[in-house]
Amino acid sequence: MILKTLQEAIIHFDNPQNCIDYMIRLRWPDGVVRCPTCDSTTATWMPRRRLFQCKAKHPRKQFSVKVGTVFEDSPIALSKWLLVAWMLGNCRNGMSSHEVARTIGITQKSAWFMLHRLREAMKAEPQILTGVVEADEAFVGGKIQNMHKRKRPVGAGFSKRATGGMAKTMILGLLERAGIVQTEIIQNRNKEVLHEIINRSLAADAVLVTDEHHGYKGTKHYHVNVNHGFDGYTVGRYHTNSIENFWSCLKRMLKGTYISVMPKHLAAYATEQAFRFNVRRGFTEQQRHHVALHGIQGRRLTYAELISRV
Ligand SMILES: [Zn+2]
Repeated sequence: MILKTLQEAIIHFDNPQNCIDYMIRLRWPDGVVRCPTCDSTTATWMPRRRLFQCKAKHPRKQFSVKVGTVFEDSPIALSKWLLVAWMLGNCRNGMSSHEVARTIGITQKSAWFMLHRLREAMKAEPQILTGVVEADEAFVGGKIQNMHKRKRPVGAGFSKRATGGMAKTMILGLLERAGIVQTEIIQNRNKEVLHEIINRSLAADAVLVTDEHHGYKGTKHYHVNVNHGFDGYTVGRYHTNSIENFWSCLKRMLKGTYISVMPKHLAAYATEQAFRFNVRRGFTEQQRHHVALHGIQGRRLTYAELISRV
């Protein structure tokens, strides 16, 4: 079934059977349903209860299509999950939990948890980057005084004086000129930290393009150092404009949509923005929805884990 618009998606996923059929195609593309407990392929479908039943002898023999995914244990209907995934995967600047709460009629707290579980599913497996790769680090986050006292970060890197009153988190971004972007939270931008990530993320013959920060010097890659002061941001065809553009999109999303973000959740917002960047061209809305949900399987994010993130 080809769905072209949000309106078509709303109608399609309003039917519970369509949601179940979609989940089966997403989780088991070969059509063979596997028991999340024992991996057996003998489960039979019980249409009235909308559950599978595994023939093997073990607890949790009956399972829904949510079991073993980020949706497990959620009382929110699949039709709402799949709809919010469509919206989050296709919007330009993110969606606030207030907006989701209003749109589908759940509490803001449930919506906030829901969006974080979807970001968990959006997380891509790390890839080896090739060709011309721009690397740059950014400080993102909000003003400490906008945060609730109990939520203000403490400890190294968050000294109010050192960061000018800002609860800033440092993120390293690696952007493949012809392809994808990957982000990672870093504690500092020392040579050891930067080299370790670059050496494990870039193919040996990749060309690394960075600004003049000394921490990038001396990796095993061919390195073009763009000096912002003298070269007008480009050295021949090399520049770091693409990664800088990514940072401005991330900052715009944080400022415009999510407003007050705790540093411990920034990795999730960077994941969301990287997802958006990586499917920006050549994808239909339905394909973005599908890619956004690619990681639901085998991932879990409980509320306790989410709020205890450090
Ligand atoms: Zn089983």
